[in-house]
Amino acid sequence: MTDDRMEVIPLGGLGEFGMDMMAIRYREDIVVVDAGLMFPRDDLLGVDLVIPEFTYLLDNKDLVRAVIVTHGHEDHIGALAYLLRELPIPVYGTRLTLGFAKGRLEENGVLEQAQLHYVEARQTLDFGEIHVEILGMTHSIADSIGIAITTPVGTIIHTGDFKFDSSPLNRNVTDYARISALGEQGVLALFSDSTNSERPGFTPSETYVRRHIEQIFYSCRNKIIVACFASSIHRIQIILDLAKDFGRRVLPVGRSMKENIAIASDLGYLNIPPGVMADISDAKTLPEEAQVILSTGSQGEPLAALTRLAFGKHKDVAVQEGDAVILSARVIPGNEGSVSRLVNHFCRRGARIYDESQWTTHVSGHASQEELKLMLNLTRPRYFIPVHGEYRQLYAHTLLAREVGIPPERIILAETGDVLVLRPDSACIDGKAPVGRRFIDVGGVAELDELVVKDRRHLSEEGVVLAVVAVNKATGTVEGVPELVSRGHVQEEDSAAFLAEAREIIIAALEECTREEREDSLVLTEVVRTELKRYFRKRTGTRPMIVPVIYEI
Ligand SMILES: [Zn+2]
Ligand SMILES: [Zn+2]
Repeated sequence: MTDDRMEVIPLGGLGEFGMDMMAIRYREDIVVVDAGLMFPRDDLLGVDLVIPEFTYLLDNKDLVRAVIVTHGHEDHIGALAYLLRELPIPVYGTRLTLGFAKGRLEENGVLEQAQLHYVEARQTLDFGEIHVEILGMTHSIADSIGIAITTPVGTIIHTGDFKFDSSPLNRNVTDYARISALGEQGVLALFSDSTNSERPGFTPSETYVRRHIEQIFYSCRNKIIVACFASSIHRIQIILDLAKDFGRRVLPVGRSMKENIAIASDLGYLNIPPGVMADISDAKTLPEEAQVILSTGSQGEPLAALTRLAFGKHKDVAVQEGDAVILSARVIPGNEGSVSRLVNHFCRRGARIYDESQWTTHVSGHASQEELKLMLNLTRPRYFIPVHGEYRQLYAHTLLAREVGIPPERIILAETGDVLVLRPDSACIDGKAPVGRRFIDVGGVAELDELVVKDRRHLSEEGVVLAVVAVNKATGTVEGVPELVSRGHVQEEDSAAFLAEAREIIIAALEECTREEREDSLVLTEVVRTELKRYFRKRTGTRPMIVPVIYEI
């Protein structure tokens, strides 16, 4: 008798934030779900994007039938271009998802050869012996899907990113009926979105956001600046509708904002009231109280339009006393500092800030605890595997699964690279697939901000020391010898000796760290920075800018 088994291999997104990608294999067929990227943290200088290593797929290239993308967020489609460049496989996704994906495929010169196939909810597809059904899901971006995958071993459900908003803006409600019907037939395993597994209750409906932003429109007599993700089509629709109701014009800034509005309205996902759109150059002539500036850069990205507005550096718009700034996006963990910095600068110009702290200017696109339990109850899976999240979110999700009565031995906490083997009556992790991260340097700075230039001038006076440390993420060991580069802070001839000594200091300090500390690059960054600061102050009496670069390999 042959061993009938199905393999599920997360290539990214389990135990880390972003970079979602999963391979599902049955015998000689492999289907990939999502190909996402991760935006690097501030400490990865010079790296623009991080994508998963897909060696596993290249090693099995003849078996890979397709990649299905669940929705148009970058953490699900951002690596598509890089995947297709090496593995030209057919891509399946909904119209809006592929509409958004096309831009990046074009930039990377793979759009021409790409085989794009449009799917919609409840459609079915067959890839060899793998049968796929598309499930409609509500999420912060329109046209999101989950998928049910059936092989002779059984049916598994991958939720994609989802929430159970009962009154979403576009009436696309998560497909309760199909999901519970599949649950009734028997679900072997559920792979469910863990992003908000630590958040109690239900995620509020998008309609709450409209109600709160409407209040701000009522009270503001000046211009309104709204920052949201360029992909938040529902949110953009709310702003367009309110602008129409209050006799204002919408002036989009930021390239991706303009592009996405064009794509979404062309495809019929965005309804632009006639006469509402205006160009940012009209800001100088339109009355202040008739303007809504719609901007990207909600994460405080240094080169984005919102940052230029906050620093008073925008050529068409000057932020003034009485303006309202609405931050209508979640702050991605790690960006709190840059966003708070922006808020300070807006306040300096007399603008009033409306953010999540006191207003519902944003609701999450992800299910909270009660919704996650609902998903578990509707599908009643034999095995449960939390996906999408760092270890703590995956762990919290396993506790919810216990609460709804799934026996602990049927809950599997897998991480990126684990090969999960499913059989009709068993599930276990058996082996590791080659996984890792690839750092992409897109190259060529689109526009060099004056602030950046000023920073550089400052550095040329004080000097800078760059410390590059490579850490093996799997074993927690420091790889090779840390590299130190110094510019402009001590005399050339002394530099080599100081750097050699400093290197010894770092090696010693890293040896002091526990394995857990070494796996956390933020901790390492701080260790390297403090040690070097202390060393240079003592030995040379200088205070160079220390830039630790921790590479996880
Ligand atoms: Zn998403
Ligand atoms: Zn996501």
